[in-house]
Amino acid sequence: MELHLHLEGAIPMTTMWELVCKYEPHPGDFESFTRRFEFEDFLHFLDVWGYMTNYLRDAEDFERIGEAVGHSLADQNIIYAEASVSPSDYRRHGIDLESMMTAVRRGLDRVTGVSVGLMVDLVRDGSRDRTMDVLRRTIDATSEAAIVGVTIGGPEHGYPPSLFVDHYDMARDAGLGLSAHAGEAAGPEYVWSAIDDLGVDRIGHGVRAVEDPALVDHLVETQRPLEVCPTSNIRTGVVAGWEDHPVLRLIDAGANVSINSDDPTYFGSSVVDDLREVTARTGADPLRLTLNALEASFTDTTTRDLLRAEIEEGWT
Ligand SMILES: [Zn+2]
Repeated sequence: MELHLHLEGAIPMTTMWELVCKYEPHPGDFESFTRRFEFEDFLHFLDVWGYMTNYLRDAEDFERIGEAVGHSLADQNIIYAEASVSPSDYRRHGIDLESMMTAVRRGLDRVTGVSVGLMVDLVRDGSRDRTMDVLRRTIDATSEAAIVGVTIGGPEHGYPPSLFVDHYDMARDAGLGLSAHAGEAAGPEYVWSAIDDLGVDRIGHGVRAVEDPALVDHLVETQRPLEVCPTSNIRTGVVAGWEDHPVLRLIDAGANVSINSDDPTYFGSSVVDDLREVTARTGADPLRLTLNALEASFTDTTTRDLLRAEIEEGWT
């Protein structure tokens, strides 16, 4: 199970290299290409992300990455994931949101053993007109591409959740699940805003909630799900290391935590590795953490029941 996964951050390195070679007459060599992915901080990560968006241009590219990510998930024995796409990053290539999302869907559907609910990342640092346009097009494409929810990613500072009240009201009315990145780079006030202003179903990251004891109490009391991505936090420099990782305190306090990889290709992260690390350090039950993800997912009740049976059966 995986709820916080950026599709573009999960494209296997070899598939990204194929895309670079498709568009660059002189792409250089694969080793130098992979060295680009050694990050120093979150801004450097966004830079590399921006660079890769140059090479996702047409429906064939999106279909290809859908299929490649599907295989990568299936290889990890992940049977259900929710993966977000950031459509506004590709606007300049002239591909419209519906063609992009349905192409990703076609690619994903070619893979057996995993089902993927698509999410759209409205990307918080775009103009209001742009984010509204992305949302409207998302709603139009919901049934064809099987889109289950929305989130807001990108740089947090200066773009608090409160700027997106209208967007989230509209998404809620359209029946979409609501998540928002909050409390990753920015502080606990962003988590409060996602809860109070947007009424989100889940929080993306939320690790900086530990800086506000009242917020931790609130999260424990309401059991609002947190999509925590432990290795990602270390790789982006939000957290120094495993020793004092906030996820450990959140689990000890009784918060509703799921474990996720965020951008596995960029961070070298995986749900399995992070589950192992977290359970070794807290004594938490990995099955419980997996079921937390299932119960917080935006899939329908029938699918959720089937997945629960499959997880419980496969766990022994
Ligand atoms: Zn994220």
